[in-house]
Amino acid sequence: MNCFFPYDEPVFRPPAEADSLILQATIGCSHNLCRFCGMYKTKRFRIRPFWELLAEVESIPASFRNLVRRVFIGDGDGLIYPQGELVRLLDSLAAALPGLTRVAAYASPKSLAAKSRQELEQLRDRKLRLLYFGLESGDGETLRLAGKGFTAGEMLGHCQKAQQAAMKLSVTAVLGLAGKARSVEHAEATAAWISALSPRYFSLLTLMRGGNDGYFSLIEPLTNGAILGEALHMVRRLEPRGTILRSDHVSNLLFLSGTYPKDRHRIIAQAEAALQEAARHPRWFRETADDRSEFY
Ligand code: SF4
Repeated sequence: MNCFFPYDEPVFRPPAEADSLILQATIGCSHNLCRFCGMYKTKRFRIRPFWELLAEVESIPASFRNLVRRVFIGDGDGLIYPQGELVRLLDSLAAALPGLTRVAAYASPKSLAAKSRQELEQLRDRKLRLLYFGLESGDGETLRLAGKGFTAGEMLGHCQKAQQAAMKLSVTAVLGLAGKARSVEHAEATAAWISALSPRYFSLLTLMRGGNDGYFSLIEPLTNGAILGEALHMVRRLEPRGTILRSDHVSNLLFLSGTYPKDRHRIIAQAEAALQEAARHPRWFRETADDRSEFY
């Protein structure tokens, strides 16, 4: 959404937040050590002073305030903002924006670990109702290689705490992250993790080059055909309840959309058909991320 704030570029936000007002409460990512991720490598992480954020909220023109329905708190880990000031920020947003229905933010394992269930409930009561969480993989060895800094079990516990606080979670995993060596383990462990949590949303991304060349030296990248095979293996294993699956990111080779368990058979059939169709194009089937777009 167009806005009047002096952004610290680059600004990333989930596709679903395209119409949201973006407020950069933090700059960069509090972790910033994932070897596969180049998103915030040009930024040193910092928490912006509370008074700067209040001034930005107060600067929103009166003619614009009625139009804002959703706010996204950036950058890569908005949830890590200190609790007391985050509560006051949410209160000021609610006071300034009469039509506000929802606030969302990225959450990291670190920021979720730092908040108690009661603190999360306090935020939820102030309209912070959706947290975007990068699981990346449910496979422990892949997480270690990727430098995520938390185990799959630890992340599951933190996300369950958020759900107990009645927050919605939108979880992402990265196809191709484990390379050829652990593709099967990555697909199966990620499907098992998502099935155990049943987040409201589960989105697939695909590993691409972009500020992460070092990571590609640690794995044998998957071909396009193997990416489709990994996606098929994952959706076959998925058994969450009430989870909306989305594979609609620009990095993805395959578009999928539906709700588990209702659409499970259709999603699997679409993934099978895509793999069969791709096999008819041997050259493309054998290409890897080196041949694809640099965007991630
Ligand atoms: S993947 Fe997420 S947590 Fe890891 S460095 Fe990138 S933005 Fe930070």
